[in-house]
Amino acid sequence: QLALVTGVTGFIGAHVAVSLLNKGYRVRGTVRSMEKANELIRLNPELKDKIEFVIVKDIMEPYAFKDVVKDCDYVCHIASPFFVSNVTDNKAQLLDPAVQGTLSALEAAITEPKVKRVVITSSFAAVGDFTKDPSSGYAYSEKDWNPISYEEALKTDNGIVAYCASKVFAEKAAREWVKEKQPHFDICTINPPYVYGPTIHPMNSMDSLNTSNQILWTVINGSKVQPSIQSLQVDVRDVADAHVLALDHPKLGGGRVLVSKGPFFTNTISKILLDKFPEKKDVISEPSDVPFNDKHYTIDNSFSKSLGMKYHSEEQTYIDTAVNLWERAKQF
Ligand code: NDP
Repeated sequence: QLALVTGVTGFIGAHVAVSLLNKGYRVRGTVRSMEKANELIRLNPELKDKIEFVIVKDIMEPYAFKDVVKDCDYVCHIASPFFVSNVTDNKAQLLDPAVQGTLSALEAAITEPKVKRVVITSSFAAVGDFTKDPSSGYAYSEKDWNPISYEEALKTDNGIVAYCASKVFAEKAAREWVKEKQPHFDICTINPPYVYGPTIHPMNSMDSLNTSNQILWTVINGSKVQPSIQSLQVDVRDVADAHVLALDHPKLGGGRVLVSKGPFFTNTISKILLDKFPEKKDVISEPSDVPFNDKHYTIDNSFSKSLGMKYHSEEQTYIDTAVNLWERAKQF
């Protein structure tokens, strides 16, 4: 069975490819350039000759995925812009590529009769209502939607809000497209909160580290900055396995799966890593005196667990990420 992975040189995309290969799928991956594809293989020699690379320079181009979906049984659409700083044009930089990229993937899939399901990487960003008091104690589930309007998404000067909106409108566009076109395949979205975990994808520098891991990197990069951020997290390896599980799970036609291990708090990350790596105390920031907020909203992950999803422990995720990021940083 052949699966197309869009954005295979991204943080999550590379792990999805590995998870697919481990479970016996063949993988075709879209990349913006062959240089990046070669760099992915240089970093992970065990992937040599295992991924068929195809170039899709810009997911925004009409019919971007037209020819690359040929003979695919499944599509994992992961490519989407994920940055929250230096956003000067919400529409051009975030909203349009997220929405158009998703529609292009679906328009391509409808031309290939073999496609059975398209799994789309959405996000908790499409689920949470971030205008609410974070201390609501609310447990979000698959039925919730971020209520932001398109007008607000265009106007906001907050890059995080604009990025979240791009995920809302991409997921909505996909679901509306399916309702309207009634294709021969169905879709499922995977909706993770902040994703941490070891990186196996190409990077130019630690400054180009993917957005979610940047928070953990700030805690361990020697800057001694303690951002005191609390939110929710999941390990990238579990997100990757969720994509593979979603490909043919009978309960997931049209489905939506929130994948989350639980809360993270950067003070807890500091404590766990200082305890595990006392010799690294010069580069790990100390916990601040901001307390953990036990009324913070959470994610109800019971649906994902009912499907058989297993999660890495919080400790394992932070330890494996830290070891990986310290190692990667030596290359730059
Ligand atoms: P990355 O930035 O590492 O990956 C994004 C991928 O999309 C890259 O492969 C990138 O290509 C590709 N891409 C972006 N814009 C374009 C474009 N215009 N044309 C072609 N390719 C493009 O981020 P992540 O791996 O973290 O994110 C992957 C997906 O997961 C996104 O949909 C994101 O919204 C979602 N997500 C991520 C979370 C996280 O915490 N990391 C949480 C929830 C959802 P290139 O490699 O060439 O830059």
